[in-house]
Amino acid sequence: MASRDGYSWTKADGLRPGVPCIGAIQPPSNIASSSSSPSTEFDVIVVGAGYAGLTAARDASVAGLKVLLLEARDRIGGRSWSSNIDGYPYEMGGTWVYWGQATVWREIARYGMQDELESSYDFSRGINKFLLASTGGTQSFTHEEEDALMQSGLAKLFNVDGKDGRDALPMPHSAHLSPSDRRFDGMSVADRLAEMGGQLTPTERLCLEGFVLLCSGATLATTSFYEMLHWWALSGYTYEGCVNHLVRFKFRAGQSSFAVRFLGEALASGNLSYAFSEPVAAVRDGGAQGSVTVTTRSGRTFAAKRVISALPLNVLDTVAFEPPLQEGKAAAARTGHVNQTVKVHAEIRERELRSFTGVSYPHNGLIYGFGDGETPAGNTHVVAFGGQHKHFHPEDDIDRTIAEFHGFTPMNVERLVSAIRNYKLCRRGGRLIADRRGQVFHNWSRDEFAKGAWFFPAPGLLASHFEDLRARQGNIFFASSDWASGWRSFIDGAIEEGTRAAASVRADLIGRSKI
Ligand code: FAD
Repeated sequence: MASRDGYSWTKADGLRPGVPCIGAIQPPSNIASSSSSPSTEFDVIVVGAGYAGLTAARDASVAGLKVLLLEARDRIGGRSWSSNIDGYPYEMGGTWVYWGQATVWREIARYGMQDELESSYDFSRGINKFLLASTGGTQSFTHEEEDALMQSGLAKLFNVDGKDGRDALPMPHSAHLSPSDRRFDGMSVADRLAEMGGQLTPTERLCLEGFVLLCSGATLATTSFYEMLHWWALSGYTYEGCVNHLVRFKFRAGQSSFAVRFLGEALASGNLSYAFSEPVAAVRDGGAQGSVTVTTRSGRTFAAKRVISALPLNVLDTVAFEPPLQEGKAAAARTGHVNQTVKVHAEIRERELRSFTGVSYPHNGLIYGFGDGETPAGNTHVVAFGGQHKHFHPEDDIDRTIAEFHGFTPMNVERLVSAIRNYKLCRRGGRLIADRRGQVFHNWSRDEFAKGAWFFPAPGLLASHFEDLRARQGNIFFASSDWASGWRSFIDGAIEEGTRAAASVRADLIGRSKI
């Protein structure tokens, strides 16, 4: 099975649209293909089949509710999905999970997948170095020195209370922002660095800024200091905790091998109807006596007692809600989040780089990279991240993208893979470019069903609208990793939110206000 999403580039074949994905669903729908089914009223319609929507659809259908899942893409997983190319899984979006993330771990245990994880890192051979490339040249460190540099820089950044942030943010899973949280959300990381004066060594500062930009995909001025502190607190207030929670363990068979379990269980209940490649255009809430109707772009209309919108923040305003979104939600949707991460995989010949990690900053478009695996051909798989800082679109210029990898250290790139939506290609001036009636390729930034990578807010968004985003509106419930209370921006947060929404709908339908 292949998805229209994603593309790959090799020297031999050039740029190719669409990549294989076990999360691409066949048949694309299990409901009659007639234009609408007004006679069938579902208990709940779930819009969006990312982890929030998948969890909500599964929990509701397993609880005995009649569920319809509508998804714009041809696959499940939303911002988390993997492609298996020549027997090797490339993670196009959300990748790493950890047992310290209680909600995702509950699901891993539910499906007995505890032993299907592997470490991204292998420091047992090869150059085994951290390379810090900057405008003044490249410095080389052991991984122990890398950890010490990151720990000391981050501890200084978050030491707003003499306790490395422990007193400042003691309850990172709270569903409310405290006055202190709001104060820190009024600051950017750039503001905090200015406040710190000369506390950081130049090397600590490069490492720290590279790490912050890896987390936010934004710029230092648009990265909420509170949200960075939140990640730090969730990770146990240490750099080691950050590595474990953020970038260490991934599924050996890829994220989509996890997502298909959710859909499979929901289908086995016999209560799930679904339609893929069916973008929703409008959601109309009939109020206390009426049902909610959902209309897709193809003109089909479906009715349900309740709707769970599992749409991401940055596309919430692409669906017409009637009555319109409450002002707080609407304002948050207009503002959006600021993460425009560029994530690119390269298959390279140098086996010794399996054990490299690197920061290339502030001059490079790809800021953070490391050896992430070994392909069946015996090549090294390197994954690298950029963002708003020196932002570029990898598909626009393959030569530049390869040069960005060389920004860490010279390497021979055999293959590039990136999560970019599929549009027609043409050749102009001897160079492959993308063309869609005059437009260029989509990537996570250009992807119309995401408009960005994982949630990361600019200063002020959460202080103003966190509770608005989590609120129900009439018969519509809103679930997204983007406003989870705990691991917001992570797969864990999406599952937390899907669980919350399904439980709330069920409680609502059986006449209890709380469960
Ligand atoms: P989504 O996955 O975005 O799901 C929303 C769904 O709604 C999508 O399927 C979308 O197609 C659909 N949709 C949109 N518009 C419409 C419409 N009009 N009609 C119908 N359907 C629609 N998290 C981690 O835990 N670990 C990581 O290592 C990690 N790395 C990441 C790397 C990248 C590059 C990205 C992009 C994300 C990463 N994340 C990571 C974050 C994680 O992927 C997301 O937080 C999580 O997957 C979001 O799930 P969700 O269900 O809330 O939203």
